[in-house]
Amino acid sequence: MKFILQVGGSESDNMILKGIAFANKNKGNHIITSKIEHPAILNTCKFLEKFGFRISYINTDANGIVDLNELERNINRNTILISIMFANNEIGTIQPIKEIGEIAKKYGIYFHTDAVQAVGNIDIDVKKYNIDALSLSAHKFYGPKGIGVAYINENVPFIRIQDGGHQERDKRAGTENVPGIVGMAQALKLAIENMEKNNNHIKFLRDYYISEVKKRISYIRINGDMENRLPGNANICFSGVDGSKLLAELDKRGICASSGSACSAGLLTPSHVLLAIGVPNKLAKSSLRITFGKSNTLEDTKYLIESIQEIVETLRYN
Ligand SMILES: *Cc1c(COP(=O)(O)O)cnc(C)c1O
Repeated sequence: MKFILQVGGSESDNMILKGIAFANKNKGNHIITSKIEHPAILNTCKFLEKFGFRISYINTDANGIVDLNELERNINRNTILISIMFANNEIGTIQPIKEIGEIAKKYGIYFHTDAVQAVGNIDIDVKKYNIDALSLSAHKFYGPKGIGVAYINENVPFIRIQDGGHQERDKRAGTENVPGIVGMAQALKLAIENMEKNNNHIKFLRDYYISEVKKRISYIRINGDMENRLPGNANICFSGVDGSKLLAELDKRGICASSGSACSAGLLTPSHVLLAIGVPNKLAKSSLRITFGKSNTLEDTKYLIESIQEIVETLRYN
């Protein structure tokens, strides 16, 4: 048996981390996560630190794969929870989830994974991977926005964060978002049915894009693991190019991408993920993340490559 609470991705991360942490405080106050998690995890951990929890933020290798030795070394008798994302949203790296699940099981520690980027792209078996809790979000697999799931195995002590009525077996109060739930279920059904077909298509476009960019543009750095990687993700640093300018120029040509950096109040802060995998500060500000989707075509991809080549040359040499 398990609890499935209908929540968005960020809310799922919040609810699971806080709900498991507070319910297990009598057993220990230590949580292990990684440096490359989504802000929904990292900022929830910061919140928990204010309430007496101790958090270990594990390093990754240069491709963004969590250091399993460091993870195991950080376990102590107060460790109650490990939360490591299934796949990274910026660099696409897929984590060794099975091995992490085995470590968690060996020490009797609960294991949560933020699988928001993985569901719909990867076959996930919570039993096989020893996953006790998992977060997913519908809009990442072409479903409606503002709905997702917090999966929590029933043997995990969990205290509800949202108080009120008795909805969702007393685990989350509030009237359920029925249209969202129905839309999510349909989107998930379609994503799973078409997973192989869609993945082959978007992986082909992504690999073509990367190989062409390599051929045509010098001084680049491809971020993330090339083997263990989400099919649609390409994250590349173009040395000497301002990522936000590159983005603005692509936008003018109707291309929607992401810099992988947060632009706030005119200040471009480099991505915490790129810094964590060892990309120097300045180079990290030249990153461009392209996410290929099922409706993209080879023609789109050729237009994208031509555009990036032109823009990078203009920004570098003018
Ligand atoms: C998008 C995302 C989230 C947040 O999900 P929302 O539904 O937008 O709140 C959390 N974690 C990862 C890895 C994501 O990619």
